[in-house]
Amino acid sequence: MRHLVWFRADLRVADNPALYEATADGVKVSAIYIDCLKQWQQHGRSPIQRDFLSRHLQALSTELAALGIPLTVLTIDDSSQTPELLVNWLADHPHDALYANREIGLDERRRDKAVQQRLKELLEIRVFNGDCVFKHGSLTTQSGDMYKVFTPFAKTWLAQLRATGYRLHPVPKAQGSAVTATSIELTGERVSSAAWPVGELAARDRLRLFCESGVYDYGDQRDYPAINGTSSLSPYLALGVISPSQCLAAIEQQLGHLPMSRGEQGFVWLNELIWREFYRHLLVAFPRLSMNRAFKPDTESLQWSQDKAGFEAWCSGHTGFPIVDAAMRCLNATGWMHNRLRMIVASFLTKDLHLSWRQGEDYFMSRLIDGELAANNGGWQWAAGTGADAAPYFRVFNPTTQGERFDAEGDFIRQWLPELVEVPTKRIHTPHDWLDNNQPGHDYPKPIVDHKRARLHAIAMFDALKDQSDNIKNNADVQTNKQSELWLAQLDQEPV
Ligand SMILES: Cc1cc2nc3c(=O)[nH]c(=O)nc-3n(C[C@H](O)[C@H](O)[C@H](O)COP(=O)(O)OP(=O)(O)OC[C@H]3O[C@@H](n4cnc5c(N)ncnc54)[C@H](O)[C@@H]3O)c2cc1C
Repeated sequence: MRHLVWFRADLRVADNPALYEATADGVKVSAIYIDCLKQWQQHGRSPIQRDFLSRHLQALSTELAALGIPLTVLTIDDSSQTPELLVNWLADHPHDALYANREIGLDERRRDKAVQQRLKELLEIRVFNGDCVFKHGSLTTQSGDMYKVFTPFAKTWLAQLRATGYRLHPVPKAQGSAVTATSIELTGERVSSAAWPVGELAARDRLRLFCESGVYDYGDQRDYPAINGTSSLSPYLALGVISPSQCLAAIEQQLGHLPMSRGEQGFVWLNELIWREFYRHLLVAFPRLSMNRAFKPDTESLQWSQDKAGFEAWCSGHTGFPIVDAAMRCLNATGWMHNRLRMIVASFLTKDLHLSWRQGEDYFMSRLIDGELAANNGGWQWAAGTGADAAPYFRVFNPTTQGERFDAEGDFIRQWLPELVEVPTKRIHTPHDWLDNNQPGHDYPKPIVDHKRARLHAIAMFDALKDQSDNIKNNADVQTNKQSELWLAQLDQEPV
């Protein structure tokens, strides 16, 4: 008997359901990872995340080798070749069963369906839920639909946690003596991710340290980008180097219990993990989200601007709004951006520049080390007012007052905008007059938009929609619900 574990976005040996189940009963196990550079590029994923992935595959290979499990990395030119690749590989390396944790993007689901159809005669295929505490499709309204609003989803999620708890899968026992780890270097453009330590132990250390100290002040500090007040675990969660259940276990161990309601120590952080699950469950229930489509179908007809110069100024951090520019330059330099800043720059792109959220989503994906479809799409559509439980369309962030509120001293701004280092704190969010008077010849741009007018224009765009949208919306709701039911039914039947 020999089992094959196909690693995907679950690059860990601890709390990995597919790996754990494959090794149960002492069956011999080997592992594969299939790399398709073309699909990586088609999904617009970043060179820094590719570097992080490559380093993590190396780390995974070492961890697995210590357990006596060899990891083989297979490469293909096109994801559609996956079934054939597996058939050929299995002909030379016979196995009795294939184990994997489910991936949720539509392309990955289609690939898995094709694999299942091609391989079902050859070996048993078993699939598990490894990316969420509760399986996609398992938390629904009374009528069996996926929630479209966060709060009732979160209530049901918490009720489920109270009822069943969460499951942690131990690291499997070593199977015989250690094997030699494969040397892994992924091809394609890479940008160094060396600032982020690699491997499961590093991720778990970060989680432990955050729970020991950061979690207590998280509610008060999480909105201030100059403070290191959040966990910085997203790059690890995105590649599955740690699991959400491990996050729950760490917080429970630290506090002695799981915070289950608002006001309890640690709950604000737990709530963010529930947002992560909300977006992942949504992505599965509404395949349109994987297809570049708005969650609210009526917003498809919004007339977004085509302003190329505005987009370039936003991308490079030259809009003349210090908090926006500092955030974008931080993203460009490090591949990471604080959540408050993601909200500010996303609101600015969509509501001040009136550019499509799709452009922002793509740009983020091409730069972020933690880029992942569900949270990125969810965050962008939330900010643009096109998504599930989105910010109300008339709520438009004022980039200047956001800066004043969340970077009051201008520490973050000065860190990323060298041209503003000398500007006194009381002028740091509107530095133009001071610069003109004190540093003539400076090259910091004037604001590229008048925020007040831009805000009114954004509201007018949505107001115009309202008049035409009631019919479209009602029909579309029926459609998406039907689609969601179909999808959930299919999900239950699909082995992979
Ligand atoms: C426009 C926009 C785009 C975003 N793109 C991504 C993305 O590509 N990948 C990504 O992981 N997150 C994304 N987020 C969510 C959030 O900004 C990051 O998860 C967070 O900043 C990561 O920092 P942290 O690990 O310190 O989070 P913490 O505050 O410590 O939170 C813990 C974990 O909870 C999850 N989480 C936190 N906030 C959110 C949220 N709003 N939505 C979903 N999950 C959340 C993340 O996995 C995070 O690591 C985006 C948000 C916005 C507004």
